[in-house]
Amino acid sequence: MGVLSTPAAGAGFGDPDELVHGRPRKAWHRDRLAAQRYLLRLIEESGVDCDLQAGAVLLAPTKSNYQKLANTVEARNALYGTSDYAIAADALEAEAGGNASDLFAGALVLGDTHHVQPAKMITGLATLARKHGATICERTDVVGLQKCREGTRVRTNGGDVVAQNVLLTTGGYTREFARFLWNRTLGVPSIVAASEELPREGVAEMFPTGRVLLVNQVRGFSCRPSPDGSRLILAGPLAQTPRSPDVDVQALKGYFKRLFPEVASMEFTHCWTGMIAATRDAQGHSGAHNGTWYSVGASGLVSCADAGRRMAQNILHEDATAAVADKKFSRWPLRNSEHLLWRGISLSTRLSDLIGRSRLR
Ligand SMILES: Cc1cc2nc3c(=O)[nH]c(=O)nc-3n(C[C@H](O)[C@H](O)[C@H](O)COP(=O)(O)OP(=O)(O)OC[C@H]3O[C@@H](n4cnc5c(N)ncnc54)[C@H](O)[C@@H]3O)c2cc1C
Repeated sequence: MGVLSTPAAGAGFGDPDELVHGRPRKAWHRDRLAAQRYLLRLIEESGVDCDLQAGAVLLAPTKSNYQKLANTVEARNALYGTSDYAIAADALEAEAGGNASDLFAGALVLGDTHHVQPAKMITGLATLARKHGATICERTDVVGLQKCREGTRVRTNGGDVVAQNVLLTTGGYTREFARFLWNRTLGVPSIVAASEELPREGVAEMFPTGRVLLVNQVRGFSCRPSPDGSRLILAGPLAQTPRSPDVDVQALKGYFKRLFPEVASMEFTHCWTGMIAATRDAQGHSGAHNGTWYSVGASGLVSCADAGRRMAQNILHEDATAAVADKKFSRWPLRNSEHLLWRGISLSTRLSDLIGRSRLR
């Protein structure tokens, strides 16, 4: 989808001093903003035009959620140097068309959140990495790792390579040869679909300012216009095993037609999915196991770029304190019976949707 996630992603918008996963929320926010600045710097350095646009609108589904966002916005702006502001339901039409004013209690306009065309951004970052000496072997699968005198022999379907340091960042695609990681990660599908070309005036009515719309629910759904303003792009983590594009599109349409009723009769010409690495505590984990570095589960484009930067520093500085397995990185139960594990996840997802309105971010 290309949203360079909100500063709150994963930490919520509540009291900045409240502890979240053992740290004050403001520490997470500061990290997130620093990580975002890092990625924006990389994009700038790459010189790529990736249709970078600023601004996101976080839609609040309940009055209490809106009040919480609105009551804390000034304090957050003062703490983090942001310029966010709240708008009530009756002013929502300036930011979101369709039924937004009826469905949502208000919104937070996040001026410092950006969105990009992700494929162009990745192309730019890959070019930058090559410029700095990296070799990228596309469509080459690592199939095994073997310790050897010089370090690790990395076996691939394109031949072997011996490396002093190996960093596994295989995310939601981790395979069984990396048993430690495989036991602790699970690929959860996320789905994006793009509509047929639409009259630009219609798209502009849905998104009067062109900002991406994010729904502040336990499972975050988002939508935005394509960079040229001719299509509608919908995204959602449907937390189900991947199915056919038609079924995926119907699921997204089912969710978004309440906001934009015209979605029901729209054709969707593109739909794509990918796997996001789910960890048991929904946190990113990094460290080393049996001499192989790993970093997985950092949620979103901003966090994973920053996780990469931190791991590179640890490796370059031979940081022995970082070269240990993360003790909080728990195994998934039933990892060998994926079918049962998925049923459990599907049930808990449905449950969290039911009680989700009281557990907004
Ligand atoms: C459809 C979709 C939309 C998304 N939209 C957004 C968004 O709008 N904003 C946002 O912040 N995040 C978004 N995300 C999430 C974001 O893409 C991920 O959080 C991020 O890509 C994770 O980065 P990563 O490097 O940890 O893993 P990945 O990006 O999954 O990278 C893992 C890589 O490892 C490779 N790999 C795996 N196994 C092997 C092997 N054996 N040999 C060689 N290579 C291997 C894979 O091919 C892949 O390239 C979206 C994800 C999806 C799927």
